[in-house]
Amino acid sequence: MNPYQHKIERCEIESYVIVGSGAAGIAAAESIRNLDSGGEIVLLSAEKPGYYSRPGLAYYLTGELNEKQLFPFSSKDFKALGVHPQVALVKSILPGQHLVELQDGSYLGYDRLLIATGSSAARAAVPGANLNGVVKLDNLSDAQKIMAQARRRRTAVVVGGGITALAIVEGLVARGVRTHYFLRGDRYWHNVLDETESRIVEGRLKEHDVEIHYHTELDEILPRNGQVAGVRTKTGDMIRCNMVAIAIGIRPRIKIAQASGLEVERGILVDEYMQTSAADIYAAGDVAQVYDPFTGKSVIDSLWDPARQQGTIAGRNMAGSREIYTKPVAFNVTRLAGLTTTIIGTVGKGKDDDLIGIARGDSETWRQLPDAIVAQQDFEVNRLRLMLGESTILGAIVMGDQTLSKPLHTLVSKKVDISLIKSKLLEPGAPVADLIAEFWSLRRTAHAAQLA
Ligand SMILES: Cc1cc2nc3c(=O)[nH]c(=O)nc-3n(C[C@H](O)[C@H](O)[C@H](O)COP(=O)(O)OP(=O)(O)OC[C@H]3O[C@@H](n4cnc5c(N)ncnc54)[C@H](O)[C@@H]3O)c2cc1C
Repeated sequence: MNPYQHKIERCEIESYVIVGSGAAGIAAAESIRNLDSGGEIVLLSAEKPGYYSRPGLAYYLTGELNEKQLFPFSSKDFKALGVHPQVALVKSILPGQHLVELQDGSYLGYDRLLIATGSSAARAAVPGANLNGVVKLDNLSDAQKIMAQARRRRTAVVVGGGITALAIVEGLVARGVRTHYFLRGDRYWHNVLDETESRIVEGRLKEHDVEIHYHTELDEILPRNGQVAGVRTKTGDMIRCNMVAIAIGIRPRIKIAQASGLEVERGILVDEYMQTSAADIYAAGDVAQVYDPFTGKSVIDSLWDPARQQGTIAGRNMAGSREIYTKPVAFNVTRLAGLTTTIIGTVGKGKDDDLIGIARGDSETWRQLPDAIVAQQDFEVNRLRLMLGESTILGAIVMGDQTLSKPLHTLVSKKVDISLIKSKLLEPGAPVADLIAEFWSLRRTAHAAQLA
């Protein structure tokens, strides 16, 4: 192979257009710039604030982070990267002509295009969903709206599941808003958490006077002078409230890709190079549906790290490289009702009635569990659950003490053979955490001895 082939290809690329300045878009810009110091990079964003931490919005709502702390990039950083950020909404893509059409009617040419448009909150299909006082949590301006309304509104109803619904509940509680939380079923996030874990989360919410309504569905949001005045449930119960938060899941923003004839399912389908079905167009982040070697399916994540990793590979390939994205084991360190929780690999199964698909901070792969046996341990406020396959750990949930979350991430990702301790892990009352800690320590000693 000609060693200069990549270089030659790169030199021919004059302009890169990235639609979306979130985690995926910025990572792509960085990796393009690493390989190509001369090409023009145009970064388009529908949102004025540009690049900020979306997971950080949960902590912004509770008051633990201020607005400045959400922004990892300054205008100097953009300058140093040599990108041109623009606030502009892309209306359509013309793949044949290598053009994007902007909302103002102008066109922008590209040699390579990245679609990193993220996802948006699904809307509730109930009367009253457009009333003043109905909120969601997609972006910074949503968070600001929730905070402004929390100052004036005394009672809220939160509807939905997963991490986003909890983030809103916790934010409202921190701001002194009386909060009702509606769950369609009999427990929280039942296709990812097991019953003990759901009850731990619910118990902590109840300690903060959150009123959880089980088997409860929203039927109508009731108006007064264009404002939320209350809700009616499907069983006819009425609750007076001034705010309704909807967090029933996300939908990848695939509209412009779909209209341009790109192959889509739930997200934009990409191959292992993060390339879409159209020449010179790539996709990454929440909007992309990516092949997962662990499950053999094309799946969607709404996770910060995978969005960055996908953006990095897409950017490198846009700049002429040819690198494969290998989807890592889904991993998230988050906080559920104030309790640090790490979710690794496959831990659950089935569909959650509170969500239309996945929520933010969530992964489709978490709930694709093959046959597995559970090993678990509860100790004070901490909980550890392992999903065991034939000879490996398929997934784990670590709540509270996080000492084992990194070792477990490695054991799951590397499919380490744990046959040696499997039967011990499954004994009634087994000290699961100690067994894993000991196994990990022995493995590290053996590894170090091999290297010496
Ligand atoms: C409240 C909350 C909690 C979360 N918790 C976690 C967590 O615990 N762990 C975790 O890993 N992840 C979490 N996430 C998810 C994580 O933030 C996302 O997975 C990640 O931000 C996705 O990055 P992205 O670049 O794909 O999309 P985004 O960050 O959503 O960026 C999309 C970009 O596209 C732009 N755009 C959209 N349409 C257009 C258009 N037509 N024209 C021009 N620009 C457009 C937008 O303006 C934006 O700049 C959370 C998110 C939220 C909101």
